[in-house]
Amino acid sequence: MHEYPVTVQIVDIASETARKNKGLVRRIDLVVGEDSGFIGESIQMYFDVVAEGTLCEGAKLVIEGVKPQLRCDSCGKLFERKRFSFQCPFCGGDGSPTEIGKEFYVKSVELEVEDEPAADTGPAT
Ligand SMILES: [Zn+2]
Repeated sequence: MHEYPVTVQIVDIASETARKNKGLVRRIDLVVGEDSGFIGESIQMYFDVVAEGTLCEGAKLVIEGVKPQLRCDSCGKLFERKRFSFQCPFCGGDGSPTEIGKEFYVKSVELEVEDEPAADTGPAT
């Protein structure tokens, strides 16, 4: 259930960006590694509730999952971790955990900014 406070933070970050730019949030891209300790689906679930009444209301939350990767101690190659296995598919050596898969950050916030009313330039011709 610890996705709730984190969802509030994401909405806060995006709303702040929107406020500074006098716009609305249209889309948020979030990167969530499978080893980040957060579950993307839960964040998605809380998002609509948390976003209600904020500048994020109606925005789309797009979650990009990252599969954990290991680095082989013998050949140095990166490979996707299989369930219950740390074995390198290239040489059979043992892999060590890397930071890949622990990501958790807001990648981008897309805003809808209303154009400032144009200065008085006379009727368009
Ligand atoms: Zn290897």
